[in-house]
Amino acid sequence: MIIFDEHLMMRAFVQPSTGLIVPITPQVEDLMWAFVDKDGGFPEKHPEIETQDWRWTGWKRKSHENCGWNHGDLEYPRYGLPGNVKVSVHKFFYELYVGPIPPVMQVNHLCETTLCVRPSHLDLRTDSENKRYSMSRKGALVAA
Ligand SMILES: [Zn+2]
Repeated sequence: MIIFDEHLMMRAFVQPSTGLIVPITPQVEDLMWAFVDKDGGFPEKHPEIETQDWRWTGWKRKSHENCGWNHGDLEYPRYGLPGNVKVSVHKFFYELYVGPIPPVMQVNHLCETTLCVRPSHLDLRTDSENKRYSMSRKGALVAA
């Protein structure tokens, strides 16, 4: 979760499990942007999206690696903030450049490019909306 820290006078990331606070300095932002390829290509499955993906070229993590779900080979961008605090980059960028993520919501990729971190390609859905959406996508694949 990203908050505005009154003492530091800057935004900071709070790690929910430990309560650890990592200031988001301009250097931290610059380091993250160094892993973003803004010529990531246009989303193949979504010709209606007329802007290119901003593709994460840094560290990745397979989806649901630790929870036993098998979502195939989907990979999501991850980044280690100072202090070895790991963040999910698309969520981080959403919070940093769009706004807070309410607890019941998930950040969804409109472009279906799981490595994309472009804020305009991201929106919020509830968990059940997200599941329904991915089910309908699977249904569409079967129908095709
Ligand atoms: Zn995208």
